[in-house]
Amino acid sequence: MAANTRPPTKSSLTSLIAQVDGNKVHNEILLDLPIKEREALYPKLELVRLKTHHVLHEPGDTLKSAYFCNTGLISILSVFPDGKSVEVGLVGKEGFIGLPLVAGFRTAPTQAIAQIEASAFRIDAEILQGLLPQCVKLERRLQQFSQIMAMQVTQIAACNRLHEVNERLARWLLMSADRIGSNSVPLTQEFLAQMLGTRRSSVTVAAGMLQKAGLITHTRGDVKIVDRRQLEEAACECYEIMTLQVTEWKGEAG
Ligand SMILES: [Zn+2]
Repeated sequence: MAANTRPPTKSSLTSLIAQVDGNKVHNEILLDLPIKEREALYPKLELVRLKTHHVLHEPGDTLKSAYFCNTGLISILSVFPDGKSVEVGLVGKEGFIGLPLVAGFRTAPTQAIAQIEASAFRIDAEILQGLLPQCVKLERRLQQFSQIMAMQVTQIAACNRLHEVNERLARWLLMSADRIGSNSVPLTQEFLAQMLGTRRSSVTVAAGMLQKAGLITHTRGDVKIVDRRQLEEAACECYEIMTLQVTEWKGEAG
């Protein structure tokens, strides 16, 4: 029998359908779905490339699409009428943008913006809502991610109020590095100040402290984690609390 006439093995079939239009799927929710749900969902997905600071939606926007983040980093921001904003959530390849749709809602309460260059699989909002009743695992995974985001937002709200900027900067760098799978986080201090809801000068001082201690190096537009273990020590307890909670929930979900 020639090699190309062999029936596909289960593992080759799984890897074959870990792609959408030839684009490799990294999103953990999409990869966790059974084959039947992938077959229903994947043909409805379209890969979109998001430039740095591309806004996916503003507060009050009708959600026409939802996004399974594939690479990069998306920030969820609380935005005020005077233009001030602060980051309340961070989403990478583990997550999804458009959670109100899962509960049958249509408008966005926050801004979602690409923190760095990113890519995502987009799906039409109505198509997603139509698929959820027949894709039980997908619906469950999105509900679970909704809880993870609620927990994260709660913790970050407390963190923004109670913890020092250098601790929050360390926490933020660790969260970002986890989500993009790299110790190099490409962004400017100006944007970082906006994320942390503080003045740029405060971020400069905090980044200088972490660099002097040998935990990071930062140049214009790029921050590198040099000593991850020490950076975890320097971060407030929020990073560990959120990481442990997600690990515990994943164990409970099986
Ligand atoms: Zn904190």
